[in-house]
Amino acid sequence: MSTFQDLGLNEDLLQAISDLGFTKPSEVQEKAIPILLESETDLVALAQTGTGKTAAFGFPMLEKIDVNSRTTQGLILSPTRELCLQITNEMKLYGKYCKGLNVVAVYGGSSITDQARDIKRGAQIIVATPGRMKDMISRRLVDISKIQYSVLDEADEMLNMGFKEDITDILSHTPDDKNTWLFSATMPREVARIAKKFMHDPQEITVGNKNESSSNVSHEYYLVNARDRYQALKRLSDANPDIFSVVFCRTKRDTQKVAEQLIEDGYSAGALHGDLSQNQRDLVMNSFRKKQIQMLVATDVAARGIDVDDITHVINYQLPDETETYTHRSGRTGRAGKTGVSMVIVSKSEVRKIKSIERIINKAFEKKDIPDGADICEVQLMSLANKIHNTEINHEIDKHLSSINTLFEDTDKDELIKKFFSVEFTRFYNYYQKAKNLNISDTGSRERDGGRNYGGKNDSTRYFINVGGKDGFDWMKLKDFLKEQLDLGRDDVFKVETKDSFSFFNTENELKEKVLSYFTDFKYEGRFVNVEVSENRGGGRRNDKRGGGRRDNNHSGGRREHRKGASGNRSDRRRSEGDSKPRRSDSGSGSGNISRPRRSRR
Ligand code: AMP
Repeated sequence: MSTFQDLGLNEDLLQAISDLGFTKPSEVQEKAIPILLESETDLVALAQTGTGKTAAFGFPMLEKIDVNSRTTQGLILSPTRELCLQITNEMKLYGKYCKGLNVVAVYGGSSITDQARDIKRGAQIIVATPGRMKDMISRRLVDISKIQYSVLDEADEMLNMGFKEDITDILSHTPDDKNTWLFSATMPREVARIAKKFMHDPQEITVGNKNESSSNVSHEYYLVNARDRYQALKRLSDANPDIFSVVFCRTKRDTQKVAEQLIEDGYSAGALHGDLSQNQRDLVMNSFRKKQIQMLVATDVAARGIDVDDITHVINYQLPDETETYTHRSGRTGRAGKTGVSMVIVSKSEVRKIKSIERIINKAFEKKDIPDGADICEVQLMSLANKIHNTEINHEIDKHLSSINTLFEDTDKDELIKKFFSVEFTRFYNYYQKAKNLNISDTGSRERDGGRNYGGKNDSTRYFINVGGKDGFDWMKLKDFLKEQLDLGRDDVFKVETKDSFSFFNTENELKEKVLSYFTDFKYEGRFVNVEVSENRGGGRRNDKRGGGRRDNNHSGGRREHRKGASGNRSDRRRSEGDSKPRRSDSGSGSGNISRPRRSRR
């Protein structure tokens, strides 16, 4: 293992490295720095984010440029504004003893004239996002005709984001004999094509294998019914009290929804996705960086360039469409020499994707069980005990001690400890005491038939609805209709069964109030649609047939009478929708009035 001195860096850089507390070069630095220092060459480096790649190209660039000249000599292109700022910041830190150095960040969403003015002062290095850079070139606000070193950072991400033409255009304004250093976490065909087109005989280095995940990250998957995803997420969080995580969802809508549900359930969470304004995204990211948010729920696009080093867990709430995206997700943890865990919540139909991810990342997943209530209570209790054990005493309490002692005169130590811990523990205990087992087996057929243990506790409510086949509904259409009307996720309505003039469906018990209030005085295509709780709450098919026929007559008739007396006021309905926002709870039917466990860290 070499030292930074061995790599041949100059005193100014070594001093900055020492100030930063870097003790030894990371693998990518050890491999890239000597090559870039010793030769004028192009380079393709396959390295994940968080491996220290900014310094791997940054140190050599700083060493090679002439700080006494005001000419722009280095150009670093990065996919996102966040990453652009992060690189600029790191370059400034690395070059803090390089007198006269000026590194300028060029990115969208900020004043172009200010950026142009900073460049005019003489920027030896420009760090830019492709869109804004192209804009500046076309407005002749920047001259990159004397660039000697160009870096394409996170090249795969830039191409994923559709920057290929911008990059081509930008590079066409740079000299042919410059050196290009391309850094990418993965090597899809597009990146290989770019390398071939713009680079001359590049040297290649690989940190780990292509697409391979960092050795600091362990991979786990949890097999649950699709509709238990959210409960599983909460359990994973509760079982890791000090979690500091990014939770990945596939769509902006799911991202927003999961974040909102977590916040509503008392977790410190925030959403990060493309429908938020830049300002909103900055606020969320700032809170996350300051650890005021423990769970950042994000889309893949928005999470690009998250520059936070100590993320403990990445949670794949849903798997990405592209298997390679998983590498990027899991690379958000296990950075800067720390260890991390990448967790995947999968349903049975997705479990085969785990195998193809394993092939890509060249690592095995461990199948783990979603912790049960007792596990979580124990973890929370011990976490609290440790926290108390490590708490510094606040001596302001001293003056109240005699009153407290009087109060507890007759309480012995064990009893006192039990009482003390019960304050926090009981909330978790009450919440989880009836918690169901969320795990399903690889081979079990429960997923297909609805997944719930209907013979046992009733976790779900079965409804009767007076529309069916003759109204144009099959089970899929009815499921879509209900999801849309009630603004529910795709797993929230299940066991949908349509008959000719009526149908049945299930939701979690927590949604009962919302469903029933929504369908009070509800009209669809001119006809009243009526929803009632079915007496056969579990939803056994044979019973439905019998009960259903009866219900069709009884309930629709009964409701019609009720409707006559009802106001039919739409605003009433809307109000009740708002009031009946689903309150998720994890402990089945008995949990209605039990307070949710709140995160202890806020
Ligand atoms: P990067 O992959 O460039 O985003 O770097 C990830 C993090 O690792 C940054 O916070 C760097 O400051 C830090 N880092 C880079 N090189 C080293 C090193 N040799 N030792 C410790 N930390 C490092």
